[in-house]
Amino acid sequence: NFDADAARAWVVAAAAAVTENADHLTQLDSAIGDADHGVNLKRGFTAVTAALDGFAADGPGAVLVKTGTTLISKVGGASGPLYGSAFRAIGKALDGPEADAAALGAALRDGLAAIRKLGAAAPGDKTMVDALDPAVEAFVAAAPDGLGPAAEAAAQAAEAGAKATAELQARKGRASYLGARSVGHQDPGATSTALILRALATVLD
Ligand code: ADP
Ligand code: MG
Ligand code: MG
Repeated sequence: NFDADAARAWVVAAAAAVTENADHLTQLDSAIGDADHGVNLKRGFTAVTAALDGFAADGPGAVLVKTGTTLISKVGGASGPLYGSAFRAIGKALDGPEADAAALGAALRDGLAAIRKLGAAAPGDKTMVDALDPAVEAFVAAAPDGLGPAAEAAAQAAEAGAKATAELQARKGRASYLGARSVGHQDPGATSTALILRALATVLD
């Protein structure tokens, strides 16, 4: 089941993935934004791993709330408050010592709702929502098969969703300033969302 150690392992794996792909994320952001997405997430997740080091948690919820709070305080860009609120909402939804796939699916849905409430982006607006929304649906649909299959389905859906943002015109965030010129470039935030969900699948495998 998804307990405090699994939540910690997820966040550590996500931190490694965004750090390893920081240059690529920043490159994507240089095409349609301000070239800082990889830098922002690397700084944020480095602070998160430091904050979790020695942090005593009685369940996965505490780990993820701490992750979210740290991202909000350490990342200046749009992605910090958005990912921060999502992790906080996921954490708040997990109040026991461990969660099964159905509970984690419901928590991930709360995370998506937090991002949509804060950023007001709908699917199709070329944001992280285009990776997270299909991922949450895929996770919930596969939840009866267990945590591993659900996380794998979510990661695949997020990767497909991120890829598909290339065809979209941005309607939220800095990329929206480019109008039609944003078409043809994959969204950096959707790309990092896919990395974060792939990290979850790797940990729950
Ligand atoms: P900034 O744009 O402030 O420099 P980042 O570069 O770290 O922040 O993050 C940019 C990413 O944030 C975008 O690629 C997009 O996925 C996401 N994003 C921006 N605005 C919104 C929004 N209103 N709702 C959801 N996601 C958004
Ligand atoms: Mg940026
Ligand atoms: Mg910025």
